[in-house]
Amino acid sequence: MATHEFQTEVSQLLHLIIHSLYSHKEIFLRELVSNSSDALDKLKYLTMTDDSLKSLDFDPRVDIEFDDKAKTLTVRDTGIGMNEEDLVENLGTIARSGTKSFLGRLTGDTKKDSNLIGQFGVGFYSSFMVADRVEVTSRRAGEEKAWTWTSDGTGGFEISPGERESQGTTVVLHLNDEGNEYASRWQIESVIKKYSNHIAFPIYLHYEKVEYDDKGKEKDRTPTVDQVNSASALWKRSKSELTEEEYHEFYKTFGHDTEDPLHYIHTQAEGTLEYTTLFYIPGKAPFDLYQVDYRPGVKLYVKRVFITDDDKDLLPAYLRFVRGIIDSEDLPLNVSREILQQNRVLAKIKESSVKKILNELAKLANENEETYTAFIEQYNRPLKEGLYGDFANRESLMDLVRFKSTTADGWTSFEAYKERMLPDQKNIYYITGDNEEALRKSPLLEAYRKRDIEVLIMADEVDELIIPTLHTYKEVELKAVNRADAGEDLEKEADKKQGKELEPLVDRMKEMLGDRVKDVKVSVRLDDSPSCIVVDESDPTLKMQQMMKALGQVEMPDVKPILEINPDHRIVTAMQEMEDDDQFADAAFLLLDQALLVDGVPLKDAAAFVQRINRVMERGL
Ligand code: ADP
Repeated sequence: MATHEFQTEVSQLLHLIIHSLYSHKEIFLRELVSNSSDALDKLKYLTMTDDSLKSLDFDPRVDIEFDDKAKTLTVRDTGIGMNEEDLVENLGTIARSGTKSFLGRLTGDTKKDSNLIGQFGVGFYSSFMVADRVEVTSRRAGEEKAWTWTSDGTGGFEISPGERESQGTTVVLHLNDEGNEYASRWQIESVIKKYSNHIAFPIYLHYEKVEYDDKGKEKDRTPTVDQVNSASALWKRSKSELTEEEYHEFYKTFGHDTEDPLHYIHTQAEGTLEYTTLFYIPGKAPFDLYQVDYRPGVKLYVKRVFITDDDKDLLPAYLRFVRGIIDSEDLPLNVSREILQQNRVLAKIKESSVKKILNELAKLANENEETYTAFIEQYNRPLKEGLYGDFANRESLMDLVRFKSTTADGWTSFEAYKERMLPDQKNIYYITGDNEEALRKSPLLEAYRKRDIEVLIMADEVDELIIPTLHTYKEVELKAVNRADAGEDLEKEADKKQGKELEPLVDRMKEMLGDRVKDVKVSVRLDDSPSCIVVDESDPTLKMQQMMKALGQVEMPDVKPILEINPDHRIVTAMQEMEDDDQFADAAFLLLDQALLVDGVPLKDAAAFVQRINRVMERGL
């Protein structure tokens, strides 16, 4: 017998599950059954692809037994099984780095953590909510020896040689006080029906049928075995037969979620290609959405046989939050996972699936604003990634993404903006940055606000990189308000005349500021503020430069800003009269530095800035 300790993360996870999920403790059975179902899926696949297992006598099934006197519950499957090494690896460590970073995100606040864990497959360890000892006896397909893993869920586990006649896994739970109630036929049946009805393999429940005589006395007990799930692949049933509730329950089992999905999309395609897809949009974004090693959410089946749940190419990366299945009738069953990537049938299914999902989302946006808003709150950003990566669907995606705006409440679309444009307005305007509140106060917006021109507020980190690559929406140009040429809708004859008058001042400032600026211009976009900075049409914005530097692109040439001054501001008019060069220099540099600060750019020489402020204050005293 070998004794092992749990990896620290396992102990953490165990502790967390036991303390935050006790109100949903029944899910332990769902988790055990879906592990069995996965193990059966894996073996089924191998019996078709692996020569050494083709002759295996394989009767895929899950059996559940209980003993209400001994207080045990047993879940047994004929799946792929585990050998000694697998047991140590799978039930003693957490191999997935996603799980580790999930644990890293825990707050210690039970309520918040329970929400997090609801989005996360808790798996086998949930058994310890209802059992004070768990025994797993397993034999791996194709191997002779069986092994028994035992643990009380505290410090570690033991492994010793075990007994099993054929391949598969038997999990025996020694129920604790919390779990007693599950040594019951009705409890087990109701949990299985609720969560595991559509598991593709039969689940049999063993119990004793009790017969009573006329006087109500027990007459006879007969051992009985009933199949308790419908074992039909739900996605193969016709849409008209299925209720929303059935779709939702299936999702919860399949997606290990405790909440209903936001939306589901069921497609049964016939014709040149025959396939079924059932996609779900989870109510909450999966916890690993922004991790490089996220788990793909779509499982591939061929003719109802599970092939893989580990293919990130079944849908484009930006749709990685979608959960569901793709079941094809046209792929060979023994399709190897390696060649899936280049498979043309699969590429076609993928292409139509993306179109279908985007169409359904567009419909949802039109028909159910509330749900669509909930969708946007979770998934706006991945959609924007799509704008960048999925050129073929860019137009549909442009209609799906949403933004905040200076004039409309809540979220708005490009289309709604276009409809609200002023009669002679030429462009769609937007401002980017990383804080919505700060953006709303930006001096760059003053003149737009004064002329009732709407500006879209883009406070998402990715906006800065993605939106400029779009150029137009339905032939209307998109312009960033911090770009030099975004003044088209602001200019007036009067402004141009005033520009001429200010030429000497502008020239003097240019000379004074030297190589700190690319240019100095008279602004048409300012109202209350004396100055602002913009960048040339072809230059990266200052924010973008900061991002590039943060990404390690240190070689970036320093792009200089253009300083714009407000011709109507008192400071600017006063500067026209200023004769003293030092005084003028202080004013000029302060106009530049304050504009940089408001734009969120840290000052290179804060000490010089403070000295100037002090000099100006002294002069004013
Ligand atoms: P998950 O199922 O989310 O991977 P679990 O903790 O439930 O996490 O299980 C860990 C691993 O143990 C599984 O990925 C699988 O490899 C293995 N495992 C669990 N139950 C079984 C089973 N009944 N048969 C074969 N392998 C199993």
